[in-house]
Amino acid sequence: MKIFCVGRNYAEHARELGNEIPEEPVIFMKPSTALLPVGADFHYPVFTKDLHYEAELVLRVAKRGSKISSDALTYIDAITVGIDFTARDLQAELKKKGLPWEKAKAWDQAAILGNWQAIPEGEIHFSLKKNGNPVQQGSTNYMIFPFDFLIAHISQYFTLEPGDLIYTGTPAGVGPCVVGDELEGYFEDQSVFSLIIHA
Ligand code: ZN
Repeated sequence: MKIFCVGRNYAEHARELGNEIPEEPVIFMKPSTALLPVGADFHYPVFTKDLHYEAELVLRVAKRGSKISSDALTYIDAITVGIDFTARDLQAELKKKGLPWEKAKAWDQAAILGNWQAIPEGEIHFSLKKNGNPVQQGSTNYMIFPFDFLIAHISQYFTLEPGDLIYTGTPAGVGPCVVGDELEGYFEDQSVFSLIIHA
């Protein structure tokens, strides 16, 4: 199983981190070991002092596909909200040196998944609450690259396989979390995960 992540897929988020609006999707990957197992506790990593949440819509790949040119949406069968956890201090260091991002984003437990949902037609809203307060709100209408484009684009480089995940990018409002915080993800009005940051 592979985890694909899209960077800078919402213009406002690209701006808040001082990044350019990309002309084609920014793609990076996490290993399968980055996924927090269902029911496992999340622990604040020892190697960062600036852990950031990034709430994102996540797609589940249903069938094998390579060089997809049409019917891209038939390659996914479920959707949810997840978190692309980022050690922002490490990422800033790595970006400054032009080095790969894995230590900032691909570590154990850096990928959180909510409960799977059916994929609705039309616009999809999602949000993240921290300690009960809304901190991120997203809508598919504000994505720079929509789902079908992302699926087709990724498959030009990487063969998609059943069970692969695609984190589709985070909207504005990313921020730090500390030990004791509770993060709750919403798909439309439905809570799909609740996560406590343990020491
Ligand atoms: Zn992200």
